[in-house]
Amino acid sequence: MMYLVDFSGTIFDLSAFEAYERTRSTREPFEPGELSRFLYPDARGFLMDKGNAAIIVTAAEQVANANFMQSALHGIPRIAVMYTGGKPKGESLAPHIAMYGQSPVFVDDSPEHLTSMETSCPGVRLFQMCRGEREGDGRWPIVRSLVELP
Ligand SMILES: [Mg+2]
Repeated sequence: MMYLVDFSGTIFDLSAFEAYERTRSTREPFEPGELSRFLYPDARGFLMDKGNAAIIVTAAEQVANANFMQSALHGIPRIAVMYTGGKPKGESLAPHIAMYGQSPVFVDDSPEHLTSMETSCPGVRLFQMCRGEREGDGRWPIVRSLVELP
């Protein structure tokens, strides 16, 4: 089974990173592994365990974010990242979705991306990631950790 996994807010703690970024004096590229500490505690194990069966799907721009992603995901082998460059994820995944087999799982914290998946990629099983105390949108099953996914 394939897992299509959002980055910010799903495997990566964006607010913790932003607090760190404010203390950082340099504009130098991030060192390999410098940003790994902002992965949520369940993320590394999940991605290592799933290997080629997990793909990170981020709305980010590839050129602007490659160093950032490489630093955060450093040391995790066989991980693939799809960048949608600001496009809705459903629209970007639709031409490729048949490659991911029967009923792939998509997990994201954003109702906007979940809605676009619902519209453009029927048959994908959708889960909303709600880290911490966050409330769900109510339209999709909620998970609070990647280990709760089927
Ligand atoms: Mg997100």
